[in-house]
Amino acid sequence: MFDYIVVGAGFTGAVLAERIATQLKKRVLIIEQRNHIGGNCYDQYNEDGLLVHKYGPRVFHTPDKQIWEYLSQFTEWKSYQHKAAAYVDGVLVPIPFNLNSIECLFPKYLAEELSRKLIELFGYGSKIPILELRKTEDAELKLLADFIYNKVYLNYTYKQWGLKPEELDEYVTGRMPIYITRDDRHYHDKYQAIPRFGYNQLFKRMLNNSNIKIMLNTDYREVVTINHHTKQVKFMGHAFEGKLIFTGKIDELFDYCYGELPYRTVDFNVKVLQKEHYQDIACINYPNDYDFTRVTEAKHLTGQVHPYTAIVEEYHRPCTRKDVPYYPIPQQQNLAIYAQYQQLALEYPSIILSGHLADYHYYDMNVAVAMALSKFDQELQLQKSLLSTGR
Ligand SMILES: Cc1cc2nc3c(=O)[nH]c(=O)nc-3n(C[C@H](O)[C@H](O)[C@H](O)COP(=O)(O)OP(=O)(O)OC[C@H]3O[C@@H](n4cnc5c(N)ncnc54)[C@H](O)[C@@H]3O)c2cc1C
Repeated sequence: MFDYIVVGAGFTGAVLAERIATQLKKRVLIIEQRNHIGGNCYDQYNEDGLLVHKYGPRVFHTPDKQIWEYLSQFTEWKSYQHKAAAYVDGVLVPIPFNLNSIECLFPKYLAEELSRKLIELFGYGSKIPILELRKTEDAELKLLADFIYNKVYLNYTYKQWGLKPEELDEYVTGRMPIYITRDDRHYHDKYQAIPRFGYNQLFKRMLNNSNIKIMLNTDYREVVTINHHTKQVKFMGHAFEGKLIFTGKIDELFDYCYGELPYRTVDFNVKVLQKEHYQDIACINYPNDYDFTRVTEAKHLTGQVHPYTAIVEEYHRPCTRKDVPYYPIPQQQNLAIYAQYQQLALEYPSIILSGHLADYHYYDMNVAVAMALSKFDQELQLQKSLLSTGR
């Protein structure tokens, strides 16, 4: 019946299914355990008619024209420049921390001196990871770095990861930079927007193809079995000769044979307020107060006009098998386990792995899309070479 089975209907699975259906003209079955498509980027209207991002706020951004044009086939966009801020000692300052944040917190003469030194040392427009700034030899900048580390990143990181910044891999701490700029935007990519009619609409249009069938409410393990000795895949008890594209957890695929890869999950506490707005910008971080990490007001992202508003508080905690695995925990011992699974996957030529759960790596949406497109290109080349050799 099907040439490809795709596990997971998030960005990764949807991009691969769409490309296979439209470019290879092959039949695809998507198996998704949830009752909707869109993965963690799914949005929906709540009972008050407010559009909320069910699994936390999503801002699309990319520097890459190709990714932008690819997704623009499936949606119109609402231009949106994301801004975030954090309460530090009771003062609301732009986040990521930048030259304006310094001005909010320090006397004018000192702020000017610190900004001058930062620009001189790193150049205007550069982004310096906080742990790198802490290594500076300049005494004043060192004090500034320690201040930012302690007041902005330390407790926030602990709430999010249960760890200190030093205990995480560089790709996370690299996402905690100081921006040497006065531009308060969170992202500086050329393309930044929200799908005009929501993410769910984008996914529906992407997957609206007669070559694509979707099986919701189904854990793939109910219908797909993998014999780990013969490497044979079965679908509903019959040998499946096509390819299995897997965007779920890599450790689950291999029955946790090298142990479980840990994740952090998030509880989203949504509150509907009977007023038009709650805060002035989409996202406010609370590094040192409360148990939640941040509060997001979706209306700033969606641009929805409504007499009420919805806010979301995020509480991070360790992830059990029953929870949604949001953030892989990038520590050496976990990456070593992942490397074993990655090696094992090479023994399964009919299984293609892609996506943040299969790669055990956090990706922004644009990166997940780019990686899926690149996986498709590899598959396309393979199919072409099989065709030319008559196999
Ligand atoms: C809190 C949070 C905020 C974020 N904010 C942004 C943002 O503002 N901007 C941005 O660019 N990126 C953001 N991201 C990243 C973005 O969510 C990811 O890039 C994107 O979701 C990756 O898509 P994916 O398809 O790889 O994974 P997912 O979206 O997780 O999709 C995987 C799908 O596989 C399904 N699945 C898993 N196991 C099984 C199984 N056993 N059987 C059947 N189905 C299964 C899951 O149910 C899921 O639907 C954020 C991530 C988080 C966690």
